[in-house]
Amino acid sequence: MSFDVDLFVIGGGSGGVRAARMAAATGAKVALAEDSRLGGTCVIRGCVPKKLMVFASTFRDMPTEARAYGWDIADGGFDWSAFRGKLHAELDRLEGVYRRLLEGSGVVVHDARARLVDAHTVALSDGGRVTAKHILVATGGRPERPDLPNAHLGLVSDDVFLLEKLPKSVLIIGGGFIACEMACILNGLGVKVTQFYRGAQILRGFDDEARGLVAEAMKEQGIDLHLGTNIVEMAEAAAVKGHEAEMGADVSQMADLLPKSGEKGCPVWVKSTNGHEAVFDAVLFATGRAPNSTGLGLEDLGVAIGRRGEIVVDDYSQTAVPSIYAIGDVTNRVNLTPVAIREGMAFSKTVFEGEPTPVDHDLIPAAVFTQPELGTVGLTEEAARDQEPIEVYATSFRPMRSAFAGANARVLMKLIVSQKTRKVLGCHIVAPEAGEMIQMAAIAVKMGATKEDFDRTVAVHPTMAEELVTMRAPVRRG
Ligand code: FAD
Repeated sequence: MSFDVDLFVIGGGSGGVRAARMAAATGAKVALAEDSRLGGTCVIRGCVPKKLMVFASTFRDMPTEARAYGWDIADGGFDWSAFRGKLHAELDRLEGVYRRLLEGSGVVVHDARARLVDAHTVALSDGGRVTAKHILVATGGRPERPDLPNAHLGLVSDDVFLLEKLPKSVLIIGGGFIACEMACILNGLGVKVTQFYRGAQILRGFDDEARGLVAEAMKEQGIDLHLGTNIVEMAEAAAVKGHEAEMGADVSQMADLLPKSGEKGCPVWVKSTNGHEAVFDAVLFATGRAPNSTGLGLEDLGVAIGRRGEIVVDDYSQTAVPSIYAIGDVTNRVNLTPVAIREGMAFSKTVFEGEPTPVDHDLIPAAVFTQPELGTVGLTEEAARDQEPIEVYATSFRPMRSAFAGANARVLMKLIVSQKTRKVLGCHIVAPEAGEMIQMAAIAVKMGATKEDFDRTVAVHPTMAEELVTMRAPVRRG
């Protein structure tokens, strides 16, 4: 049977673009459909704009620090519209780079929504139909709002990058990495941030001491963090008796650019589980993401969909229908850009290079871009303790740079070591630039380095990371 193309990729995000380019490089005929913007979540509404906003937000405290170092420098204000213009120009540039990379590799790009008609046919929203030997679903995920009356009034992370004007106050609901990063970013940009998380501590799944330190630092920076707290009711502030005046005061100065009453992102009255009532210029839901697996016709074809909406795949990213594969966030394995890219590469090797390649999801390093950052690889102390007897090496100190400036910021360096094999099972760092540090430590951990390998490594002095190789005695065993 002959097909129009060897591979049709649905979704032009991190995973889909990499898989398409790699397959095309083998000489395969490849087409790709993207119904929004090439680059996907990471480039357009995730990692990239977020990191640029992280950078923007860190300048707030720099004048204070600079003055402590002898600089004659005054505080300044932040101009969101100037930054936003530059941000979007950069995203446009990157989107163009993605298109050129694809087209330069010979991939035919369809700017259209795609759905599957049968195991080898894709129908496009522009009316086209393409048959393919293999179909790769790389449709990513989307932010979800909670099932709560008036939840449509709240923002989700996608909306933050598009705000015409920053709100003066925001309530962030959620405790995951996106919620915490947004809290630090908006706080740094001068927004008064309140954060509710229904759990006992933010950043569930990360090492307890590491997330505890991040939570403390966030509070110290002025984020009003409430744990064990959620909202039970929300309504547009203008419609709630007794709050019209409060809302009017906020809105009068921003009337032109802030969303109007009843629109997404408008001032909202909320009642929380502790009975407290308050009005915020905006509410931001960062309560979870769902895989984009609906409306693709997958279930009709026999592709298995899991409880959380994820496409179920095997170690080679193949679904229950042999010609259909899926990678990235839509499979809800590890929802990170480098993982989606790896899955795309492994798919291409398996299907187009005759080299069956399972995806290695073990010991994936990650960073949370809060202030300070949290870098992590391997097991948390809690998970390691459940697995085997361990030793914990940890040190917490005031880093030289901010201590000199009189700030209270603290850093945590922590290694979890197997008593039996002496291997470093986990490394957790809370520090400025922890994301950069953990990338390096992750190489050693992935190679199976022991605590003694770390100890044999000469320190780089004076740095924060030198503590990783100078911790002599365990703080506890268990
Ligand atoms: P996506 O990048 O989501 O791409 C899927 C694409 O498919 C989208 O462009 C979508 O428009 C398109 N599409 C969907 N349905 C169809 C259809 N039917 N037809 C055609 N096209 C379709 N990861 C990190 O590693 N580090 C970070 O710091 C980080 N920060 C993040 C911050 C935020 C706010 C968010 C939301 C995510 C962040 N992530 C981060 C996660 C990362 O962005 C995702 O893991 C990654 O983008 C997943 O890539 P993907 O290819 O699976 O999907």
